[in-house]
Amino acid sequence: MLVMTAAASFAMATAMAVVRPEAREGVGLWALALVLHGSCYALYALRGQIPDAASVVLANTLLTGVFALMLAAVEQFHGRPLPWWRMALPVALGLLLFGWFAGDYRARQIIVGTLGPAQLALVLWALWRPLAPAQPRGAWLLSASVLAEVLLMLGRGALALSRHMDNAGLLQISPTQAAVFVLAFVTIILASLGLLLMTKDRADAANRHLASHDALTGLANRRTLVQALARDMAHAVRIRGPYALVLLDIDHFKTVNDTRGHRAGDQVLRHVAGVLAARLRRQDLPGRYGGEEFLVLLPGTDLAGALQVAETLRQAVQDTPCPQPDGPIAVTISLGVCAARPHAPGCGEALIDAADRALYAAKQAGRNRVQHGPAPECPADAG
Ligand code: GH3
Ligand code: MG
Ligand code: MG
Repeated sequence: MLVMTAAASFAMATAMAVVRPEAREGVGLWALALVLHGSCYALYALRGQIPDAASVVLANTLLTGVFALMLAAVEQFHGRPLPWWRMALPVALGLLLFGWFAGDYRARQIIVGTLGPAQLALVLWALWRPLAPAQPRGAWLLSASVLAEVLLMLGRGALALSRHMDNAGLLQISPTQAAVFVLAFVTIILASLGLLLMTKDRADAANRHLASHDALTGLANRRTLVQALARDMAHAVRIRGPYALVLLDIDHFKTVNDTRGHRAGDQVLRHVAGVLAARLRRQDLPGRYGGEEFLVLLPGTDLAGALQVAETLRQAVQDTPCPQPDGPIAVTISLGVCAARPHAPGCGEALIDAADRALYAAKQAGRNRVQHGPAPECPADAG
């Protein structure tokens, strides 16, 4: 069992070392902890065949190093680097105590049963601080494994303390000893998978966000808008409710790029996105539809309501120039509004076309204004 645990630790360390090695998410540190864990169990397995200084003092001290590295890994996952002395402190304490009690198996069980749980409690504390991590599946798996290990070490420490443990040593065969080794084997693997699951869930969430949002403004991207519109249409048809959208475009944006530079242009796009997002209700969805065009979906809104929203947005953009180091940039927008009671799921595209025509009319009429068009003719539902 000792050799198996060492082999499993080394195998898991190898696997973790090749997972996203460029990302500083604690996986590298955890892999290092597994290498120490494997070395610790390899030294345990050699008990009696190598000097006790290695199989007892070094091996048990390595275990404190394992837990210190796990703490560092979890802190790094949360973006909080651990000062080196906080890692070194328990290791130094372990070296001192295990060196002192090198000849006393029971005393060492008591030390492992207090120092280990204390170190692992810090790992759990770091994992769930300050709030529950956003990757609960992995965090629960990691926590359950660590907790099982804590209970195991506490139990062995308590047994040793109550003198219900004979002092025969590590390699003595007993059901308790076997259970301890099996559990150590299982928990180290499950805890490692827990951390991997956390990094996977975080990467997945980041990818989902990248795929659905515009990188420059942080608003929903065109793909998300189109999907949301299709979903909203189906809902609006079902409840026979009103639906509106606003298509808006920054006025003379090319001039901003040409006179203040492309970077200033990007700042203006971000600024307008922020102003829009700040003025809308929770159920409204603003997004970047194209270069400097934004689309706002307004579920459950009739024409009068949509015109009001559009005018609020127009006024807000006009009233808040984009701050820049070389002086604020005045921005205005033109808006095309369209509203309808959709009767077929295909109404979405017709609504966008109508809003586009209204936007064109707003540009023609002199910009910095809201125009609306008639409710569009939706194609009959083919289905
Ligand atoms: P109008 O009032 O008629 O809308 O005039 P305009 O200058 O705003 O319109 P036009 O369509 O001529 O210019 C749009 C410009 O937006 C052209 C393009 O270079 C710029 N643009 C598109 N995407 C980006 C971007 O991501 N960043 C920057 N800085 N500019 C962009
Ligand atoms: Mg424009
Ligand atoms: Mg444009």
